[in-house]
Amino acid sequence: MAETLTIHLVNKAGDLSGRFDASHLATAAAKLKAWTETIILSVPAFGTVAVRTDSKQGDVKARDLVCYLLTSAADSIVAQRATEDLTLGVSGSTMMGAADKAVVSEVYLRQIVQGGDPRGNATTNREQLVAGCILHELIHNISDATTPIVTDVHKVKGGVICRELDGNPLTGPEAPNEVDNKVAATALTRRVTGVKQHAGAMPA
Ligand SMILES: [Zn+2]
Repeated sequence: MAETLTIHLVNKAGDLSGRFDASHLATAAAKLKAWTETIILSVPAFGTVAVRTDSKQGDVKARDLVCYLLTSAADSIVAQRATEDLTLGVSGSTMMGAADKAVVSEVYLRQIVQGGDPRGNATTNREQLVAGCILHELIHNISDATTPIVTDVHKVKGGVICRELDGNPLTGPEAPNEVDNKVAATALTRRVTGVKQHAGAMPA
């Protein structure tokens, strides 16, 4: 029977002084849900998508995905868990922890919404932009954060969400295209037992 693919968005960034409040987050979550519903049309294992913003650690099931929404890279969970030097992405990062083999995906909301400046104004299409950055990290999560790599996200030809974002960041109106959808669907299909997510930074 087709399952629900549940994506847990864990907001640890607050509301950026009102520039990304609960209603903006709800809009971004709805956008991510709609995009993911298109992706799973070609993934037989999944019939529906749920995007939750209120989850606790115990809510994360085997094939679920988790993305942390942090204020900035200074709060990086990836960096805290890294055992070697690494360069974080500008808008987000995804990496497997060496000790527990669990993957962390995170995005840096102030960078995406306010250009990295705490006094910066909100970018237009902020909700879609945040959704796009989350989807980028989650496609890393299922595609190339663990071995064997299914697809190297930064080397995809013709993708919008799947591309190198550093130096070429996503812009507000950009949305996943057929290439991105195929990369994501292929990874979800191949990862039959899912990818272990790091839930330890979620509310207990
Ligand atoms: Zn990337």
